[in-house]
Amino acid sequence: MNSDMLFYIIIGIIVVNFIKDKILDALNAKHFNDEIPEELADVFDKEAYDKAQAYKKTNYRFGVWSSLFSILLTLGFLVFNGFEFVDNLARSYSDNAIVIALLFFGIIMIASDIISTPFAYYRTFVIEEKFGFNKTTKKTFVFDKLKGLIMMAIIGGGILALIVWFYNLTKSQFWLYAWVLVTAFTIFMNMFYARLIVPLFNKQTPLEDGALRDKISEYATSVGFSLKKIFVIDGSKRSTKANAYFSGFGSEKRVTLFDTLVNDLEEDEIVSVLAHEVGHYKRHHILYNLIASIILTGLTLYILSIFISNPLLSNAIGVEIPSFHAGLVAFGLLYSPISEATGLIMNYFSRKFEYEADDYAKNTYKAEPLISSLKKLSKNSLSNLTPHPAYVFMHYSHPTLLQRIQNMRK
Ligand SMILES: [Zn+2]
Repeated sequence: MNSDMLFYIIIGIIVVNFIKDKILDALNAKHFNDEIPEELADVFDKEAYDKAQAYKKTNYRFGVWSSLFSILLTLGFLVFNGFEFVDNLARSYSDNAIVIALLFFGIIMIASDIISTPFAYYRTFVIEEKFGFNKTTKKTFVFDKLKGLIMMAIIGGGILALIVWFYNLTKSQFWLYAWVLVTAFTIFMNMFYARLIVPLFNKQTPLEDGALRDKISEYATSVGFSLKKIFVIDGSKRSTKANAYFSGFGSEKRVTLFDTLVNDLEEDEIVSVLAHEVGHYKRHHILYNLIASIILTGLTLYILSIFISNPLLSNAIGVEIPSFHAGLVAFGLLYSPISEATGLIMNYFSRKFEYEADDYAKNTYKAEPLISSLKKLSKNSLSNLTPHPAYVFMHYSHPTLLQRIQNMRK
């Protein structure tokens, strides 16, 4: 094995992955016009259906062009030794390994952010705007970008700096220290994300007293679930699309409802959505996901530790002076088929968990309000009612609407 061979393997992985994605997208798009299953006949009226068809096609075309642009850029960057250029640039400012790694990733991140911003802008202010979803102002858009970058610099930069430091100190043992660090961070974020990060982007207010809160409390008591923290978040600041999620555990557990969800759904329906979220908690899905992600991180870091000191990795992406940061990039590219496979497994379990949470809502509350709320949410987000099974298998973290309804009516 030499670095040239490794280079071509990397190119091969990127190209094959791209082709695979495009085939799946095209397969899925071919079924946009399929007949709507009987159970879903009442989701769209004629007008909403036409709009949904146009929305899917617009997104499909946008996806083709933006991914084509992105792969050409990535390949061009590799072929024209972009990483070597950035590495030299970073090395011209410092000879400290940590500073070089931070500069190296900082330059790449900022450059790719600048390049991808027009696409994000187009998606928000042209596509989402045209279909009536967008509520984001230009000011919110700019501030979101800035806050995201600053957060990335502090958190991502901090973790990277520590991992490089561990590596320089302990060489092949670094993965253990890195694992402990990432695990501690993951658990911390699971607990305090809603308290520390969400407020930077959204306003959360406790669900006000009234009929809805009483109904929710009544339900929570009936299943022996202490739920004191129910928050309504101003999702309407950015989009008309609605959502609800569960986060944290122990004393930090809370349910967050989008204001759009509270406005779009009847009380009964909101309680059923909440029952679904409680189901995720009661069936330990939050914990399983956390454990799975910790194990996967450990495994990935361990495999990384086997290869990272090999200069071939850095050389494969054209970087002459071997380093942890350049090796990390090459490893990330070479590892992507494996992370793709683990992603598939995670998606499989996620869909299984969704059925379990639906069953939980059905058994402890009612199925019909959950079905009608899922239909409303699908209508309001113009979702695809006839996705291709292969596409669902590869990309969906939730079962299709039809599958969920059939499961609940079983
Ligand atoms: Zn769920």
